[in-house]
Amino acid sequence: MCAVAAREVALEPNVRKWLDNPCRMLIDGQWVTSESGKTFDVFNPATDTVIAQAQAADKTDVNKAVKAARRAFDDGPWTKMSPAERGRIVWKIGDLIMEYQEELAQLESLDNGKPISIARAADVPLASELFQYMAGWATKLNGDQIGITVPYAPGAEWHAYTRREPVGVCGQIIPWNFPLLMAAWKLGPALACGNTVVMKLAEETPLSGLKLAEIMQEAGVPDGVVNIITGFGEEAGAPIAAHPMVDKIAFTGSTEVGRLIVDAAKGNLKKVSLELGGKSPNIVLADADLEKTIPGAANAIFFNHGQCCAAGSRLFVHESVYDQVVEGVADFARNIKLGPGLDPETQMGPLVSRTQFDRVTGFLESGKSQGARAAVGGERGDGDGYFVKPTVLVDVKDDMEVYQEEIFGPVVTASKFSDLDEELIKRANDTVFGLASGIWTQDIGKAHRLAAKIRAGTVWVNCYNIFDAALPFGGYKQSGWGREMGEQVLNNYTECKAVTVSL
Ligand code: NAP
Ligand code: MG
Repeated sequence: MCAVAAREVALEPNVRKWLDNPCRMLIDGQWVTSESGKTFDVFNPATDTVIAQAQAADKTDVNKAVKAARRAFDDGPWTKMSPAERGRIVWKIGDLIMEYQEELAQLESLDNGKPISIARAADVPLASELFQYMAGWATKLNGDQIGITVPYAPGAEWHAYTRREPVGVCGQIIPWNFPLLMAAWKLGPALACGNTVVMKLAEETPLSGLKLAEIMQEAGVPDGVVNIITGFGEEAGAPIAAHPMVDKIAFTGSTEVGRLIVDAAKGNLKKVSLELGGKSPNIVLADADLEKTIPGAANAIFFNHGQCCAAGSRLFVHESVYDQVVEGVADFARNIKLGPGLDPETQMGPLVSRTQFDRVTGFLESGKSQGARAAVGGERGDGDGYFVKPTVLVDVKDDMEVYQEEIFGPVVTASKFSDLDEELIKRANDTVFGLASGIWTQDIGKAHRLAAKIRAGTVWVNCYNIFDAALPFGGYKQSGWGREMGEQVLNNYTECKAVTVSL
């Protein structure tokens, strides 16, 4: 079904398995079709062609999956396992991800469009690390012993302590920009903490998540503990968010759908964590080391074709170095090799879907019509795929759509500033989002002072897009609720119980 050009990597025999037969979903340990019998097409964004079929789940399938997860939570064996046993299974998932690294990287590149070199170097190993970092927490979910006073019971003696317990059945809905990694970010901590899961993969990119489901079975995750379904947001995502037997919902995606998730969760007041959009400021001070800053600022926006919630999409440059930095980043963009993800020489692939292509090119048009100018790019790339050229927009005003809204493509706006305290900090924070930010300077005092003033969950100094399983990630303001990764994510997946004993 899938034609591969000569210079592209040869597909692993196992990859063909996902392409040549309709992919099934994992519910209660069984690989099943949707109850309705409906499937949908999976596209290769480099060629705008159909490469596979996936099951289109709806409410009935979600119900089945939630019941399985509920039973697995309430009856065990998962929840009765020792922490060490659970930790070993989560660790094994990480091992198996590396064992199947080439299959996973190819599926990711084919389905999402990202360069195979990036999938191999970043997505796959980061997903493996995430499971292994979280595996360690399974044996360290400790409570506290608490000294209490109780003024209305003078003379009494107490032993009080807290326990950390799993939340229960977790619904998890993920996007298409890092399909495997987003699945790992959510599944790793949920499993380490002893929860059970119903996850919906993004319609645009179901393949690597299904392979991960197979890996989790092989690692020994018991039936019903993880249920992985495919389908569309309204049919398969919304019923998870609304389901009365789901205790917690974790969502990554647009701020708009994040609001729908909150509404849907209202019925049984399930716990909600959200990782939403961004319009992150990337700030270059006058004293920055431009040799590092220019490629750094380019990577901040162009990594993953700008399809990153943390993308450094608003570049602020001090007026004294503005021309040099803009020309440098534009030059970097001009030299990026666009092509299909499976070509080992490709540095930037296509956008994920026709919808995203239309959305991003729409922003380019709106920017131009409002007076912005492309210093480089500004148009679609060659070929039938969803290619957009890496773009640097200048002559941008702070009220333009391209400056205000999350574009989620390889498009950065470059703005000048003159004063750090009076002007820059205000402009950097003048957004409804607060996910990430970057600062480039050789003045360590300025860097820390600025880092404290930026209203965002992540600040990178003299670097950008540095992610690690041990670092918490999440947003201020409309960029979300709660944190993923690090020790902080355990708050999303555990309840805290206070036990008080009268001695
Ligand atoms: P999206 O609509 O927010 O989709 C994210 C996930 O939510 C997908 O699995 C989607 O399903 C599902 N979904 C959609 N509607 C839903 C509903 N009513 N109830 C429950 N789940 C629902 O994001 P998108 O359409 O893929 O992209 C649109 C924009 O969102 C992007 O341009 C970007 O600005 C932003 N975005 C942000 C992130 C991030 O990491 N923060 C990631 C992706 C996109 P299906 O897609 O399968 O139908
Ligand atoms: Mg696809």
